[in-house]
Parts: sequence; C-alpha cells; structure tokens
Amino acid sequence: MLQNSNKKNDNETVLDKNLKMMSMSAIILLALFIYTLYKSSASINSTSYYVGVIFLFILLFFAIFLRFYKDKIKKFLPQNKFAQELQKASQKSSATTSVQENSEDSSIEAMTSEITFKDVAGISSVKEELEEIVDFLNAPKKYVKHGVKLPKGVLLVGPPGVGKTLVARAVAGEAKVPFFYQSGASFVHIYVGMGAKRVKELFAKAKASAPAIVFIDEIDAVGKKRSGSSNDEREATLNELLTQMDGFDGESGVIVIAATNKIEVLDDALLRAGRFDRRVFLNLPNIQDREKILELYLHKKKHDLDIKELAFNTAGFSSAAIATLINEALLNMIKRGDKVLLLEDIETAKTKVEFGKKEHKLLNSKQKEVLALYQASKAYIAQKPIRLFEEGIKKSDELFPSKSVLTQQIKEYLAGSIGVEVVQGEAYAIHTEDLHSAYELASVMVDEYKMEQDVQAFIEAVKSDLKSEIYKHTADVVRLKDILLHNEVITDNEL
Ligand code: ADP
Repeated sequence: MLQNSNKKNDNETVLDKNLKMMSMSAIILLALFIYTLYKSSASINSTSYYVGVIFLFILLFFAIFLRFYKDKIKKFLPQNKFAQELQKASQKSSATTSVQENSEDSSIEAMTSEITFKDVAGISSVKEELEEIVDFLNAPKKYVKHGVKLPKGVLLVGPPGVGKTLVARAVAGEAKVPFFYQSGASFVHIYVGMGAKRVKELFAKAKASAPAIVFIDEIDAVGKKRSGSSNDEREATLNELLTQMDGFDGESGVIVIAATNKIEVLDDALLRAGRFDRRVFLNLPNIQDREKILELYLHKKKHDLDIKELAFNTAGFSSAAIATLINEALLNMIKRGDKVLLLEDIETAKTKVEFGKKEHKLLNSKQKEVLALYQASKAYIAQKPIRLFEEGIKKSDELFPSKSVLTQQIKEYLAGSIGVEVVQGEAYAIHTEDLHSAYELASVMVDEYKMEQDVQAFIEAVKSDLKSEIYKHTADVVRLKDILLHNEVITDNEL
C-alpha cells in the first residue's frame, strides 16, 4: 500500500503511455496526410480530403480529452491489477485443501509486473546476481550465440519478508516478461493427481508465453525430501516438477525462480545441476540496507526522523517488517491528526509490530550484545566474514574432507556458544541449530567414518580446545563483537 503511494499508480502509468502513443500517432498521421496532399493535391478529391482531416482532428481531440479527464477515467479502471492478482493467488494458496478444479480460480494466469529493481531497496548484491537473468531475457541472442546456457532455475533462499517475491517480480518487471506466481502449497491438493496436473498446466502456459518467469513461492511445501511413503500426492507433484524442469532447455526462455527459507529440507534432486542450480541467499537487511529501505518508504513523507538512527534501532527487522512499521507509524500520525511523522509514532508502531508478529525479532541491547559475541566468535574461529543476522557460515564442500577439515567444521559450529560462555561467564541458549549440526557431524565421523570413538567425548574435546583458544584471544573476539555491533558485518580485512 505504502509502496503504491510512493510511486505512480500502475494504471495511471499505462494510461499515460497509451495517451502519449495516441497523440503521437495522430500528429504523425496528420503530418503524413498533409504532406501527401501537398505532393499530390490534384489527384485527391475534396470529400476524402475533408473526411481524412476531420477524422485525424477527432483523433487528436479525443486524445486531448482523455488526457484532461484521465483521473475520472482511471476510476473506472480496476485498481492495481498486479497486486490484486497476487493477492488472489496467495489467498488461493493459503486455502490448500479447497480444490477448485473446475472454477475459474484454478486456472493459472500470467501477471504483468510493473515492479522494477528501483522498487527494491538495498540488497544490491542480490540484484546484481539477478541482472544477468534480466539481460538474458532481454537479449537471449547474445548468450545463445556463445553457447552459454543460463540456469533454468534460481532458488532464492532467505527468511520470510526479506524481499524474495519482490525481487522475483522485479526481474519480470525489468525484463518486461509475464510472471506466473504459484505458491508451493497451492500444488498440494487433497486429490491425488491434481498437484501434478497443475504443475503441467503451469509449465505449458509459461512455455506458451515465453520468455516468462515462473515463480514458485515456498517451494518446500512441495519440494521436501521424498520419503517414498508418507505423502504420495506431494511426491507425485514433485516428480512432475522435476520432469517439467528437465523438459525444457535454457533457450526456451522460461526461467523458474523459487523461494524457500529452508533449503536443507529440499529434495536433492531439485538442487541438482540443470534444475535449481543457481542459489541466491537473502539475509535480514543489514544497517545500510535498512537505511535504504527506510528512505524508500519515507520518500516524499514529511517526517522528523533521523533515518540513520532509525536504521540502527531496527536491527533484526526484516524488510517487510520495516514496511509495516512505517505504515503503522503513519496510521498513528493520522490518528494524532498530524501531518509530520514523529519518533513517537515509530515507538508506538514498534510495540504493535513487536507484539503483533512473533517473527519480527526485536532485540534489546543486551540480546544484541550476546548475538554479536556469538557471531564474532564464529567469525574469529572460522576466519571468515560474517553478518550479525546470518544463520550459518558456509560449509566446506570438499568431496573427501579430511578429519581435520571435519573437526574444524565442528569447531565453527560450536564457536558461538563457547565464545559467549567464555566472555559472559555462563552459557546462553542461542542458535540451537549450530549445536545440532555439530552433534550431527560428530555422529557421522564416529558412526560412518570411524574417525572417532565416541560422539560426546569428541565434542567435549573440541569444546575444551575452543575454550582455551577463545580465552587466549578474548580481546580479538571482543574487538570483532564491537565491529559487529556497530556495522552489523565483519569484512575480510577486519578479521
Ligand atoms: P518474502 O518473499 O521474502 O517473504 P516479500 O518479497 O513478500 O518477502 O516482501 C514483503 C514486502 O516487504 C514487500 O511486498 C515489500 O513491501 C517489502 N520489502 C521486502 N523487501 C524489500 C526491499 N528490499 N525493498 C523494499 N521493500 C521491501
């Protein structure tokens, strides 16, 4: 809603374009007509001359009339078609169990996206990665000529509300290609065979309107690892998706973008080469991103806010949460009968956002300190850059890892909690996934590779090594923690 008020209404833009085209055509036609007349005036009889000129003048007046009354005409047009369609699609997906096979709703329709990269604030590295796809869709010849195959599938991985859908829509908008939105859940029907049928229909339609973008939101609903027994319908749907993705090549102009926040639950077959082999990770926005998002949402709004400070104080907010925050604050401003957004509106809105939705983790300074310490210890032990809000450090993908490589991996998993324990003097319950991963890997080392005797004893040994290492280098860890608290990111040269 906010975004819409920031930019021109979609219909208005389309209307403006059409009016301009109409006026230009009328002027060009008129000029051509007069020129032809001038050149061959003898051979045109006077009736056709007058009819022609009158027709062109009517066209011109009609265009001018429409231009002046565009606001009234606009009211007769449906508002923001894309948003409406998207809303319809997501409503459909949330009602996963209601099968509407023969109603109009079940048909898959393309949408036109008016969103471009300009509407996506921050996350410049994500945009850069996707620009290649836009370029491919705009000028495929350039790539095909050199025999370059672009990925068929791009997987956007990140927590909710970080702009995965928005960025996919922006790719379609930049490339000016149709956008097919489907939520993974909408494929999972109660009737066997319906999901697969829907996947087939989706791909058939996308291929027919290629170049096109197919966007599958929450792909994990359909793409979870296959177990062979539990949910035949879901597995049949997943198999159909795999078949469809194998059934076209990069040159067909259909690019499938999928979004998930749980890449680890996805079936390996989906991640194999030739399917979703390109992955783009989106994290919670860092302080610079938040500043840009705030600037976008506060654009042309009267306010008395220090955007930099607000960016600092919204650590842990997703981009969507920031959008909601500003919206709520504006509502509060209206309630106060004011025209200038004040910090008190933000504060009131913050409590609403915080209590209204659990997923917006709003950290107080103590929690932020502990998290920074956790991440700083990991960065120190791994000697890799890290962000304050980032789930994990990238795993080593060596094919035949040595025992020391695996042990180092376990150390990296445990570094956070041990770092906090050493510096704070007691253990904190934070990021249990890292602990699980450490135990899981240790079990693989013990049970499968027989590198160690006992999981618990091995973990204890690694912990004790870590404790003495971090104890010796506490000053370094604390320095990194301070950088993280300030910049929310530790870069290579700060390590
Ligand atoms: P996801 O698909 O990751 O859950 P969405 O793309 O649906 O997140 O984002 C929800 C809303 O949050 C968007 O419609 C938009 O209003 C806002 N938003 C998210 N990311 C950004 C961004 N980078 N810039 C501006 N607005 C954003």
